[in-house]
Amino acid sequence: MDGITIALSKGRIFEETLPLLAAAGIEPLENPETSRKLIIPTNRPDVRVVIVRATDAPTYVQYGAADIGVAGKDVLIEHGGEGLYQPLDLKIAKCRMMVAIPAGFDYERAVRQGARLKIATKYINIARDHFAAKGVHVDLIKLYGSMELAPLAGLADAIVDLVSTGGTLKANNLVAVEHIIDISSRLIVNQAALKLKRERIVPILDAIAGVVGA
Ligand code: ATP
Ligand code: MG
Repeated sequence: MDGITIALSKGRIFEETLPLLAAAGIEPLENPETSRKLIIPTNRPDVRVVIVRATDAPTYVQYGAADIGVAGKDVLIEHGGEGLYQPLDLKIAKCRMMVAIPAGFDYERAVRQGARLKIATKYINIARDHFAAKGVHVDLIKLYGSMELAPLAGLADAIVDLVSTGGTLKANNLVAVEHIIDISSRLIVNQAALKLKRERIVPILDAIAGVVGA
């Protein structure tokens, strides 16, 4: 395909990317929240948007099924970033990767005593690196959602998860004890597409860079 395909996930990334695309003169013609279509045309006949699961955006761009995409730094770290050019921090979908525990669990003491901790998370690589750097022994338990439940149900001692307002933690009587990394979403570009479709892709990158202040 000679046109440009942009991979976006529904929800906050789609919503927060809209104004950035608008700055590049690109307007999706349907809303993925109400449309069931996974391929959404735009006002530009040579540009389309494909709606993917947030964790799948790097994969679509890596293999060239999409030329451009938007993915959280969390997702990019877990994916590894292979084959991806990451020219811009879009400063959208901002949150923090944190370690959280049930209120009342003496995490510091457990760490001091060299206890082996069970950690539930969707972010196995980030969690592994974090605890290895601290010299804490952990058993990692991979989950795909509702991480907050794990310590409450007795599956894990702590979780590694994204936190923005802290409302979900609070509602489940959990407290954040360690900040691992600040997260925002980045623009990702297929490296081969950038060379082959340079004259179409670069103006889009430049327009977006203009609005994010890069
Ligand atoms: P789903 O919610 O459908 O399971 P997901 O969690 O992968 O999928 P989103 O919730 O849309 O998808 O999150 C997409 C990206 O937005 C994440 O990869 C992360 O970078 C960022 N994000 C996640 N949670 C928050 C949050 N509470 N506040 C701000 N940004 C967030
Ligand atoms: Mg989510």
